[in-house]
Amino acid sequence: MSKAHFGLIGLGVMGENLVLNAERNGFSSVVYNRTFAKTQEFLAGRGAGKQIVGAETLPEFIAALERPRRILMMVKAGQPIDDLIATLSPLLEEGDLLIDGGNSLYTDTERRVAELESRSFGYIGMGVSGGAKGALEGPSMMPGGTRAAYDAIEGLVSTMAAKVSDGPCVTYIGPGGSGHFVKTVHNGIEYGIEQILAEAYDLMKRVAGLDGTAMADVLGGWNQSEELASFLVEITEVCLRTKDPETGQDLVEFLVDAAGQKGTGLWTVESALNMGVPVPTIYAALNARVLSSLREERLKAAPLLALSAGPRFDLGDPGDGMPPLRDACILACIASYAQGMALLQEASRLHDYQLDFAAIGQIWKGGCIIRARLLQRIQDAYTFDAALPNLMVDPWFLAQIRQRLPGLRHVVAGAALAGLPVPCLGSTLDYITSYFSGRLPQNLVQAMRDCFGSHTYERTDCPGSFHTEWLP
Ligand code: NAP
Repeated sequence: MSKAHFGLIGLGVMGENLVLNAERNGFSSVVYNRTFAKTQEFLAGRGAGKQIVGAETLPEFIAALERPRRILMMVKAGQPIDDLIATLSPLLEEGDLLIDGGNSLYTDTERRVAELESRSFGYIGMGVSGGAKGALEGPSMMPGGTRAAYDAIEGLVSTMAAKVSDGPCVTYIGPGGSGHFVKTVHNGIEYGIEQILAEAYDLMKRVAGLDGTAMADVLGGWNQSEELASFLVEITEVCLRTKDPETGQDLVEFLVDAAGQKGTGLWTVESALNMGVPVPTIYAALNARVLSSLREERLKAAPLLALSAGPRFDLGDPGDGMPPLRDACILACIASYAQGMALLQEASRLHDYQLDFAAIGQIWKGGCIIRARLLQRIQDAYTFDAALPNLMVDPWFLAQIRQRLPGLRHVVAGAALAGLPVPCLGSTLDYITSYFSGRLPQNLVQAMRDCFGSHTYERTDCPGSFHTEWLP
């Protein structure tokens, strides 16, 4: 029997769809899952009649693969990956290649690449985005590791990836854990945009009094615009339009208002704090999820303060797309991307990843959860100036900020007076206002630090380090 081109370990939501994608694209496959019953179920169901065979044990799995072996691991991130590598590596031969397609912590990947490469195996840490549908039809993929390891899988991943007008949504990201780092930041941006749309929903409902269908119509209009057309706006429209089959009411109103947060959002913020990159819109989204999960506490606290009793304010005509709200959302989405890209720039500098920001914009244009028409502008901005200090100073994005800042201010001020939380929109306003301020009040912070701790300060009018005896 001829050997399979490709091996997949982990028949979960992603693995199952990715192997069907590979097979559809001409790569005969062998699959292994820790629980064999799931393999049998898959082969009898969605995998039936395809160029896919199952293996009950890892030695069987390894024996069924052509050399050099290309093995994609789609299992839970963390210890399971280390355990799997420990079990697999005695079975591998020189030149064989492991790909971790899960959401692994990039520093873990950094370590694994070094370990496996030193033993003459290839190791790729590859972020995969697109959910179940993307995995099947074409995801966006962010592979990092050695160039040689990437070259060995390029044919496979570029065939499987989503396609946009200028190519497949996959490229060599860079060395070490860079692929997983880029995926982590992708997810951080995703947190931001999801929360921005949740805030827009809250305002449309509680300030403008719209029902789900009317809100969906507004989102449908936004999805036609260059600035907001995106997968997340598209699915938000669908969610808002969906009715509960029992009651006929808007289904979303029956859902518990508590969202969890998994590793990648937290890792984005942790990395940003460690690297000294401000990501306030993304951080606000993470905090909003954490705070939402304190549901019991919130329910007890709510009657203690009579919030949301403030004045209603004008969010604009829904038939015209609610211009101030739309402007606020556009700027908050731009801020999420700008913060994510700034974080990638700093990580690239610190780890010498040599990231190509225009190429990252390109591979996010299709297949992934944050795909949006705006990414063409992001790709163009970094193609024009690869060393752009911040996306917001690119001429096109700067023009957006100039035009839409009044709308963002109006919405944030109105929400504050109405007693409604808008953490991402509010943080975006602070981010933009601070970034474009030539003078911030941190001179006074420096004065305090020198006053109590003799930390010294610098002056604007002459070089050097100064200390003042501030206290009598
Ligand atoms: P899933 O449906 O929960 O499936 C998890 C898979 O991991 C199963 O095959 C499970 O095997 C296996 N597994 C769990 N613990 C294991 C262990 N200790 N040893 C060996 N195998 C183990 O997961 P998924 O959603 O496909 O996600 C897989 C990876 O992709 C994760 O890192 C996830 O974060 C990432 N990811 C997910 C998505 C998404 O939309 N779902 C998108 C991008 C990336 P059993 O059947 O034996 O339990």
